[in-house]
Formats: sequence, C-alpha cells, structure tokens
Amino acid sequence: MTQAPTLIPAARPLIGSEERLAVDAVLRSGNLAQGPEVAAFEAEFSTHFVLGRPTVAVNSGTSGQHLGLLASGVGPGDEVIVPSFTFAAVANSVALTGATPVFADIEPDHFTLDPVRVREAITERTKGIMPVHLYGHPFQVDAIEQITREHGLAIYEDAAQAHGASWLDRPVGTIGEFAMFSLYPTKNMTAIEGGMVVCRADDTARRIRLLRNQGMETQYANEVVGFNARMSDVHAAVGRAQLRKVDGWTKIRQRNAAFLDRELALVPGVTPPRVAPEATHVYHQYTIRVAASERDRIRLALREEHGVATGVYYPIPNHRLPSLTGYAPAGELPESDRAAAEVLSLPVHPSLSEGDLQRIVAGLVAVTAAGS
Ligand SMILES: *Cc1c(COP(=O)(O)O)cnc(C)c1O
Repeated sequence: MTQAPTLIPAARPLIGSEERLAVDAVLRSGNLAQGPEVAAFEAEFSTHFVLGRPTVAVNSGTSGQHLGLLASGVGPGDEVIVPSFTFAAVANSVALTGATPVFADIEPDHFTLDPVRVREAITERTKGIMPVHLYGHPFQVDAIEQITREHGLAIYEDAAQAHGASWLDRPVGTIGEFAMFSLYPTKNMTAIEGGMVVCRADDTARRIRLLRNQGMETQYANEVVGFNARMSDVHAAVGRAQLRKVDGWTKIRQRNAAFLDRELALVPGVTPPRVAPEATHVYHQYTIRVAASERDRIRLALREEHGVATGVYYPIPNHRLPSLTGYAPAGELPESDRAAAEVLSLPVHPSLSEGDLQRIVAGLVAVTAAGS
C-alpha cells in the first residue's frame, strides 16, 4: 500500500507579508485598541461590498448579529424566523435578545430558507426573518422580500459566508435592515476574529456603535447599557490587507467550482451544488450531496486513501441541538434533517493547485465507485 499524499486541507487562511507588515505597523504605533485602522476598514469595506451603506466593525460575526437585532428593537415577546440548517450563531443571536428563534425548513436545491415554509411559520409575534446566504449562495431574495412586504416584516441578513455574492445586480448585505459579515479565519476573508454590520439606516448604525462600546459615543457619557464588542486596530489592519485580495480569491474559488462542476456532473452517487439563475455564488463552500449511508465511508476514504480533507456543515440541524431544542417548532423539518445527513463540502479554497483539484475529483470517483 502506497502512502497517502500530503493532506489537502478543507480550508486554508491566506496570510501574507502585507498582513504581517500592517500588523507590525499598528504594534509599533502603540495605538492598539479601536482607532483609525478600524474606521478606515469600515469605510473601505462599505465602499467595496455594500454601496457605501453605514458599516460598523465588531469583535465577531455573532456579536454583529446580536447587536444588529438589539439595535433593530428585537426583544422579549418577538419571534424571528431562522433556518435550522446553519451555524448555531444565527438562532443563538436571536435567543440572546430574549426573542424566540422560530425554525423554518430549507429548500433542497440551495440549502437556504424555503419561502413556502417561512410563510407557514409567521405568527402575530413575528418581527422579522433572518435568512442565511449559506455556503456563499444568496437566499431567495425576491420571494423572501415579497413575504416581508405583505406582512410588514424586517429582513436581517446573515452574510457571514457571502462576501461579494449578489442576487441579480444587488450585492448581499444591501437587502436587509442590517446584514452581518463574519471575518473568522476560515471565511472568504478574515480579520482573525471580527464581524461587520451593514445598516440600511444611519440611526441603526449609531445604536450599534453605542452598544459596541458600553453605550458611549463620548467617553464616560454612557447613553445606554452596552457591551464591549469592539474590534482592535490590529485586527482591522489584517482585514484591510485582506480586502485588497478578496476579489482575486473569489475568482479562483469560482474557477475551482467550475472545474469541479464539470468533472463531477456525471459521477454516480454525487449531486453537485446548484446555482439559482439570479445568483452570483462566491463558494465559501463547495457542497455536494451523497447518500447518507455512504457519507462517513466516503469522508474517511477520501482522507485516508487520497489525502483529501472534507467538511460537514452542519451535521446536526439546530432544532436538534440540546441548546436549542426548546425552540423547535411543532412541525418537522425534513429537508434540514436530510441535508444534515447528506452534505459533504469539498476543498474549493484559493490555494488549491491544478493537481489538487484533479486529486479531489479522482479520489471522489474512485471512492464512490468502490461503494456501488
Ligand atoms: C461564521 C458564521 C457566523 C458567526 O460568525 P463568527 O464571526 O464566527 O462569530 C454566523 N452565521 C454563519 C452562517 C456563519 O457561518
């Protein structure tokens, strides 16, 4: 038996000399806390991704979601409709405000909220909907907006995985009352830890700025009870350097995905991801479906025999997590359960070589054939 080749990781943050030099400059300046780098990062991010909308940097995507909801007036007695098939931060941020996260099922093609199921979940307490642009594919913007217009609800966007994605000519982040982008290391760009909250209205942005800094705009003149959710200048310096590179990385992700689409189209037992005609997908993840009964074997064989790491996002839908079962709806979420059992994310990140891509395809062909 020949030895497995070096492992192709499922994700790989790219930190270069630009990031290191920028961090060093901040460290030398002595101005380490939130300061001019953060302000510059907010302005540049806003121009780059969200048509200049008011943008506030915070210490994580989760903080951004939480403060965005608080600043939008969400609290006890309110319900916010969320997907179950996503990262728990979504429902957590709703629960932390004292409001109730209400789970709705996803549609099977793009893994995002199913507008039909969202409609069924609306009650007189529903305040808004927090759809997720999952894997970098936008949610069904037109259908969800139609619902919010009819019922007078707000959209709170989770764009954690979707920097640069769009629906027709509308960039994600410009659709909701607010939108959150994550800057965690494995996301399409990083500030090590961090988040950006993009707001439709200036006064929402101002409330988030207050909540991020103990309720202060002027030092020691606290206006509301707030948090410490500030981003540091060190983190912002990394983020600014990444912002100059992210479009190039996205193009490579899309090229890698196009290669995988071509090569996997006819592989038995593999369902490649589908893209809505209105969508520009930025491939935070390239997520296929395989038979639930085969997934563990396929994952293990890809890793052990072909040196290909994969990811499962997410193995347990949120309505089955011990922390969130109390919020489960009366009905079932069959598509969320099925997706959790079938999804498998292949490496698609910008540091893959042509040889890596070929190895991913050859490995998957061999491994799936071995099971049939
Ligand atoms: C990463 C992520 C978050 C949370 O962002 P953090 O920066 O890790 O706090 C929220 N929602 C989704 C869909 C994510 O992928």
